[in-house]
Amino acid sequence: MKIEKIDVFQVDLPYSGGVYKLSGGRQYTSFDATIVRITTDEGIEGWGESTPFGATYIAAHALGVRAGIAEIAPNLIGYDPRQVDRINEIMDQSLVGHNHAKTALDVACWDIFGKSVDMPVCELLGGSTARGLPTISSIPTDSPDAMRQNVAAHRSQGYKGHSIKIGTLDSEGGPALDAERIQQCLADRQHGEYFLVDANGGLTVENALRMLQILPSDLDFVLEAPCSSWRETLSLRKRTSIPIVLDELATTEQSLIQIIADDAADGIGLKISKNGGLTKCRRQRDICIAAGLTMSVQDTVGSEIAFAAVLHLAQTVPERYLRCVLDTRGMINLKTAELNAELIDSTITAPESAGLGVKPDLKVLGKPVLSY
Ligand SMILES: [Mg+2]
Repeated sequence: MKIEKIDVFQVDLPYSGGVYKLSGGRQYTSFDATIVRITTDEGIEGWGESTPFGATYIAAHALGVRAGIAEIAPNLIGYDPRQVDRINEIMDQSLVGHNHAKTALDVACWDIFGKSVDMPVCELLGGSTARGLPTISSIPTDSPDAMRQNVAAHRSQGYKGHSIKIGTLDSEGGPALDAERIQQCLADRQHGEYFLVDANGGLTVENALRMLQILPSDLDFVLEAPCSSWRETLSLRKRTSIPIVLDELATTEQSLIQIIADDAADGIGLKISKNGGLTKCRRQRDICIAAGLTMSVQDTVGSEIAFAAVLHLAQTVPERYLRCVLDTRGMINLKTAELNAELIDSTITAPESAGLGVKPDLKVLGKPVLSY
């Protein structure tokens, strides 16, 4: 089987909550999605998506996805898409870094692999754990009361976990405001719920320590991505007992190995496009399991196609290591594909049909913007 054609589609995914606010004054209203269709000489089509969280979240942006695909795609024509490690070698030889550009192509190859053997991708990634996956909400920064209400709204929809965004400068309220946000969001905590407090790298060590000193010591949460650099993260790590999860600083196998060498974290955010697609995330999953690190399997954002890849990878992570999945569909209000994966009893499972289990809507995707 050979890759015969690669088509690239572009879709804008509006944020479902109006304006998404992160630390550092970052705001997002819409996300530029790149969706790829790979067609083989046997007529099998595979789909993949890469949707960066704007241009200011990590070193990734939507125009870069399509520019990266332009560098890589011509070199993949004629190769067997089922040889996913070989495909990734060609991609890495064509372009250094740029995980987000490689992801859509890699995921489309896995979709083809699954369809070619009539098996869901999770079975090819190691086998389904056959259990429902706990989902997590994404609560952007706002007033403490509004964030508490947002948690309640997601709780009523069945979410068991909540990702609470924090990270303000002193001039905007500083550690006192962030501490109040955390206390408000945890105030109505239910049995079995858990909270990730995510600063997206927005805190200095000083502000993080001041915030933690204000908070009661019996609040049960994990601090995610407190600081933007390794030095700050390691400094904070030595000076607090609060569990730390890394996300923006955990993007490659190399960064994971550094986390383990430095004992820098207790878990990571494993985001398919940030961490380089399913082939590379499969390796990072195994490194995490070997090191005893928990994983939040997510993507930066994305529609049904991106979320399907999240589900198939998460479906292979043993229960004790899987913190949660992020249902990225809840962050946007445009549907690009049919995906049979509904939230039932606060959990969700990967579709059992062949490949990713998505049926893209060509009316929504429009005509390809690039073809190779
Ligand atoms: Mg995060």
